[in-house]
Amino acid sequence: MSATEASTHLRENPFALAREQLRRVGEAFGVDPDLIGVLSKCKKSVEVSVPVAMDDGRVEVFEGYRVVHNVTRGPAKGGIRYHPGLTHDEVKALAMWMTWKCALMGLPFGGAKGGVVCSPKSLSHSELERLTRRYTTEIINEIGPEKDIPAPDVGTDAQVMAWIFDTYSMNVGHSVLGVVTGKPLAVGGSVGRDGATARGVLYCIRTALQKEGRRFPDTRVAIQGFGTVGRNLARLLAEEGARVVALSDSNGAVINQYGIDVPAAIVHKAEHGTLEALPGTDEASNEELVELECDVLVPAALEQVITADNAPRLKAHMICEAANGPTTPGADEILEDRGILVLPDVLANAGGVVVSYFEWVQGLQEYFWKEYEVNAKLNDIVVRAFEETWSARDRFSTTMRNAAYGIAVQRVAEATTIRGLYP
Ligand code: GLU
Repeated sequence: MSATEASTHLRENPFALAREQLRRVGEAFGVDPDLIGVLSKCKKSVEVSVPVAMDDGRVEVFEGYRVVHNVTRGPAKGGIRYHPGLTHDEVKALAMWMTWKCALMGLPFGGAKGGVVCSPKSLSHSELERLTRRYTTEIINEIGPEKDIPAPDVGTDAQVMAWIFDTYSMNVGHSVLGVVTGKPLAVGGSVGRDGATARGVLYCIRTALQKEGRRFPDTRVAIQGFGTVGRNLARLLAEEGARVVALSDSNGAVINQYGIDVPAAIVHKAEHGTLEALPGTDEASNEELVELECDVLVPAALEQVITADNAPRLKAHMICEAANGPTTPGADEILEDRGILVLPDVLANAGGVVVSYFEWVQGLQEYFWKEYEVNAKLNDIVVRAFEETWSARDRFSTTMRNAAYGIAVQRVAEATTIRGLYP
């Protein structure tokens, strides 16, 4: 993806949108405006420069960030994103959403996010390692197992987490398992972490279908994005008997209304680096996928793909936000009027941070669980949060987003009030 292409994914300022969502929730749930004022700011934000020796001998200087939105309920938690279109305000919005996500799930964490403006696909393995180690060193005073715990996000993976873990550990002189989550199993990762976000999305869709007396078989699902989340979700849905009718990556979408052969799509993507020309499918654009006739639309890539522009044309019955911030507040109003159920990001994609919490706990205790324990505990937490959100939505006659954010904001507000303002 080129930098120009990448910079187009944010049509509106994401931090302004996140603050607008908070303002609406504060009003709807009667939260003290002074508290909303506190929560609409990020607690701490660092901007660092990351000089990297490139393979060809040049030195390239990248821009990096780590933003902590809130730590009232516990250490800050949130991923690290490598993307050419990343902006500081985007990281702030993502940090705020992590605060709500952790609170909604009842995890003892606040919210953070970080990232480097770079195109990870165009860096060599060793350039990526040097960039990660230098970025980690630049933010080393900000992170730590009791302070702020990074994890994977768009453009980063278990290998990147291993380098963060190693760089931090080498600096303090001993292995610190709790400094980062999403690590490989060989260095203290948790079983089930890789597929955890997708699994949480699956549990949310399943619970929402059950509310309507429906089940997976024959449910038509369109997934936008084929990264860790989109790919694992497609696999899990196919295993459940759902019909995956569309998939996409940054090159475009592939469609088959009778159902895509998902294992074949995974092999095709691994072999060719793209979903293009997947046998048995028709090609379309990402924009066309979003407007496709289906039961469940899952945006699983970047922010702002569902906007006031395309919301009137969406044909999905339900939207499940595997990505963070894929729907703008303008689109939300239209979808609400049209009666389209939206399962919001802080609920739908929280499986990742829930299993990150499990990984952190296992690392601190140096005692590791079995996969069935991880999945069962994940199911308990996500389904409980879903039910709490569903009943708040009924009680306040509001949307799932307002209900989810409302519960989360009230939890953070309560903790803030009980702790009291320092000094
Ligand atoms: N980046 C993921 C998210 O947005 C996971 C964060 C984490 O595990 O800390 O939820």
